[in-house]
Amino acid sequence: MQVAGLTRMSGCDWPGRLVATVFLQGCPWNCGYCHNPDLIPTRAPGRYAWGDVLEFLSARVGLLDGVVFSGGEPTRQLGLAAAISAVRDLGLGIGLHTAGAYPRRLAAVAGSVDWIGLDIKAEPEGYDDVIRTGGGDAAWRSLEVALASSADVEVRTTVHPGSAVDVLVLARRLRAAGVRHYALQRARAEGTREEFRADGVGWDERFAHLAESVADVGFDHFEVRSG
Ligand code: SF4
Repeated sequence: MQVAGLTRMSGCDWPGRLVATVFLQGCPWNCGYCHNPDLIPTRAPGRYAWGDVLEFLSARVGLLDGVVFSGGEPTRQLGLAAAISAVRDLGLGIGLHTAGAYPRRLAAVAGSVDWIGLDIKAEPEGYDDVIRTGGGDAAWRSLEVALASSADVEVRTTVHPGSAVDVLVLARRLRAAGVRHYALQRARAEGTREEFRADGVGWDERFAHLAESVADVGFDHFEVRSG
């Protein structure tokens, strides 16, 4: 496990739960809006030993509802299944943030996860423009894996003014695929690379209009995150 960071207490990484969040190094993709680009390099070593993190978590039993594994792309860590198992043994819930780059690895752990926050960035045919490399089909296979699992699933899409993704069409396709819980996230500039623009002329109005349109798609639960 390449553990790059640890948030000791968070109320927003797993909606409705108080959690610690473990950030794992490395992602095969390269999204322009990534707000953790330092976590993309796959060969960078971790900053924390997993054993120390587990010791910290065991001292928080009773204070936390669970642990979220985030990244980077946490499913690329070969030690993830064992780490999840160790945290479950403490009696803590398991949340997982993933962009779905490794559907078979997601399938291997999904049965041990209580909640999955899955980023779906575009329709399959528009994916490579967003992740700026190949391999986007994997995300939609991961969507099938997540929806077939026993975990609660939140699908989310990040939008920004320069995006070519038709988010309303995407949202309708996700609803048709069986997604019940959807979140629209407005990209933030904080933490992104210098060349990324999170704002633009008329973006406030366009984003508000988009959110209103997606609200009518008919998800059981729809959330807008603009901060
Ligand atoms: S998939 Fe997530 S972690 Fe990977 S580059 Fe994109 S935004 Fe960053």
